[in-house]
Amino acid sequence: MRKHSHSRREFMGLAGAAGIAGALGWPLPAGDLEGRDADLVVFNAKVYTVDSRVPKAEAFAVKAGHFAAVGTTEDMKTFIGKGTQTLDAKGMTVVPGFIDCHNHAPGNVLLYEVLVGNPYVVEFVTIASIIDKLRPKARETSAGTWVEGYFFDDTKVKDNRELNVHDLDQVSKDHPVAVHHRGGHTSFYNSKALELAGVHKDTPNPPGGTFDRDASGELNGRVTDRARSVFNKVAERPTLSAEQKAQRDRDGLAYISKQFVRYGLTSVHHEGGDLSALQQVRARGELQHRVSYEATGAVLESMLAGGIMTGFGDEWIRLGATSEHTADGSFSERTMALTKPYPGIEPPYQGNITETQEDLNAWIERVHRAGIQVNCHANGDVAIDMVLTAFERAHRLFPRDDARPKITHCTLINDDLLRRIKAGGVVPAVFTSYAYYNTDKFHFYGEELMKRCMAFRSFLDAGVPAAAGSDFSPGPFDPRMGIQGMVTRTGWNRQTWGANQRISVDEALRVNTINGAYNSHEETIKGSITPGKLADFVVLADDLHTVAQDKIKDIEIVRTVVGGRTVYSYSA
Ligand SMILES: [Zn+2]
Repeated sequence: MRKHSHSRREFMGLAGAAGIAGALGWPLPAGDLEGRDADLVVFNAKVYTVDSRVPKAEAFAVKAGHFAAVGTTEDMKTFIGKGTQTLDAKGMTVVPGFIDCHNHAPGNVLLYEVLVGNPYVVEFVTIASIIDKLRPKARETSAGTWVEGYFFDDTKVKDNRELNVHDLDQVSKDHPVAVHHRGGHTSFYNSKALELAGVHKDTPNPPGGTFDRDASGELNGRVTDRARSVFNKVAERPTLSAEQKAQRDRDGLAYISKQFVRYGLTSVHHEGGDLSALQQVRARGELQHRVSYEATGAVLESMLAGGIMTGFGDEWIRLGATSEHTADGSFSERTMALTKPYPGIEPPYQGNITETQEDLNAWIERVHRAGIQVNCHANGDVAIDMVLTAFERAHRLFPRDDARPKITHCTLINDDLLRRIKAGGVVPAVFTSYAYYNTDKFHFYGEELMKRCMAFRSFLDAGVPAAAGSDFSPGPFDPRMGIQGMVTRTGWNRQTWGANQRISVDEALRVNTINGAYNSHEETIKGSITPGKLADFVVLADDLHTVAQDKIKDIEIVRTVVGGRTVYSYSA
């Protein structure tokens, strides 16, 4: 070992020498490394720590899966010993690992289902290609059993019209056929499916959903939100044994874990999913990213019954907030609940509210009382108001410090909602990739509403720690795409919407790192390159701050490291 006595004072001096403004030195200098070699030293880097005390550095040392020291290259090299791995970053950029606070992690869908759209990037498809992909599936499926397609995006269709019942009748007249929008709130059905579900021209819309009709009043096959539940109860679905299903869940999670780290995500909040499969994937060494598991259904019920609270688990799999409890429809599929009707739609349509205020109050009270972090899906201003009302009520009845009620999406806000979000200590997980990926849908809302949608500028100015929530599959989860959208508010089609909500690159980095850690009460262990925190970081080929802003999404992810271990490497 070269040098054993790094004092706090030396670090302060070095920080000053490196030109770091206002450097106060680290609260945990090299103490952890006294007399020991580091496991890994990264040097010659442009390190953006996302720690406001020392925002920039050149190098850092990792020991036992944690950052142990951060400083200059010269200084960090003194921790290189016989067993130390070194990484000469050659001037590349290093940032904390990205955190996605809302992800459905549908690995089994990606692996085993028919995908009729591109999950990861903007790609236009034809309706003919959708039919072509589903026909072989119908051929190998017995009549009467569902044939389904996933990752449809209605504004990424070259035909420039809605998919409809007649298109899907071309797949099969003997099978019920469904194509699910990647947004998760609308599906398109063929005639057989409508017939089996007993839905006809005169069937009234149920609460919280619609059976859509064409200009002549005939069913067009599009069905929204809660109206879809009737289709879940009819016809056969491909049968899988419990073991086959579990195997698909395991393989799917292992698969998507690889995808996450390929894009620099080191922590992801999972909306439910097979918890035992997740543990088995981890046990067999194939979980590459850290999971904040957001429980629903039987898992949430057993938490409530067994007194298990948010925070239980460890730094790889931890129980976070609940899974999103849905209060309204979708932003991307234009079913979210708005105060004013959607522009240009007849008869006037204000979106779908999928939960009554009473049910919402009761659910939130029950979860909040049990010490579990509440998480509700609310997109439109109407739904956000309802969720806040229920939070405020539960907190009044059963006050709990630092509960951090979570609103997933929290898309359309106004000044009053923002004030209540701040007052309630609410943590929003806001769409990230939409500002790039979904600009082809913003005209449905118009600029006046888009000025208040995905309102990162408003949140940060109000001191609300908005975090990133890709909502994959609805949105691509690439954090680079997310950051580019937050910084530019310009989409793939070069349209800019709600430019007033732009934030800086540094702010977007915070949204995607430390604010994500805060979202799950984990800001003391992750989210920045700070001595003592988990050594989760990403090496980028270019600097997000200096590259052209419309090229941020193309910056190469060179390496992703979780807990000091390289889990993805570009050259490998
Ligand atoms: Zn979601």
